[in-house]
Amino acid sequence: MCIRDRVNIERMFKLMGVESKVADQKDAKELKLSDGKIEFRNVGFSYEENRQILTDLSFTLEPGEKLALVGGSGAGKSTIAKLLFRFYDTDSGGIYIDGQNIKEVTQLSLRQSIGVVPQDTVLFNSTILENVRYGRPGASDEDVKEAIRLAHLQEFINQLPNGYDTKVGERGLKLSGGEKQRVAIARTILKQPGILIFDEATSSLDSASERAVLTAIDDVSQGKSSVVIAHRLSTIVKADRILVLERGQVVEQGNHENLLKQNGRYAHLWNLQQHTEHKGNV
Ligand code: ATP
Repeated sequence: MCIRDRVNIERMFKLMGVESKVADQKDAKELKLSDGKIEFRNVGFSYEENRQILTDLSFTLEPGEKLALVGGSGAGKSTIAKLLFRFYDTDSGGIYIDGQNIKEVTQLSLRQSIGVVPQDTVLFNSTILENVRYGRPGASDEDVKEAIRLAHLQEFINQLPNGYDTKVGERGLKLSGGEKQRVAIARTILKQPGILIFDEATSSLDSASERAVLTAIDDVSQGKSSVVIAHRLSTIVKADRILVLERGQVVEQGNHENLLKQNGRYAHLWNLQQHTEHKGNV
């Protein structure tokens, strides 16, 4: 692994305000990603004593499947994503990727295999082209431009005063939430990770922008195992597996149809959101 990659990952963590709490085992091996099968086996986790966040959580995500995490604020959605990225170690049980316990592989190889599209993307004071190139620092201009096209950012860039060379970030052009998310998607396309984590934006994007983001997410996650932290149920009806979380517990799991039939918590949330969206449109 080259030093440049290591520095980039550390910088990214700093910017995300996250300090890794785990250390590599002495004999840690590189993660060998083949199909991208993800298994949570009886996972238990708490940030603090006496406050269990996840209890005996088990699920399997077959290669290429899409997992959606739903539930109210504080239910434990981000915690599951953080454990998969190994910001923290589980207290009990284990997380396996293609049969390898993520505690036994190097953090670097694990994190290079996983692409994260966060809710709020950090932009550097540089051009839009350089901001996207950050996904893979050695990438050619051609590859960066292709990633921009695939992330549905081209039209936006065409309207900028200096196109690809337009300065963005704190001292440059401010991007909207949806545009920033597409920069993150373009970075992820460049990185080409085998596993993807999306943190869907909570802030309401306008509908054209939301459509562009969702189409880009759909395109990039095609055939890849992906985890989506979902805030709006309408965006995850096609997910292969949905975990419904409440106060750190999985209260239901299944796909959209199964969960509606169960007529439980998910069906209740679904009806509630349909009602709200309908009212919002009146
Ligand atoms: P949201 O939709 O608001 O982002 P979430 O479902 O992603 O919520 P988590 O962030 O996973 O929820 O949090 C689950 C629980 O863990 C919450 O009760 C939260 O207060 C607690 N928690 C999260 N991070 C920490 C931390 N670093 N230290 C202590 N407790 C934490």
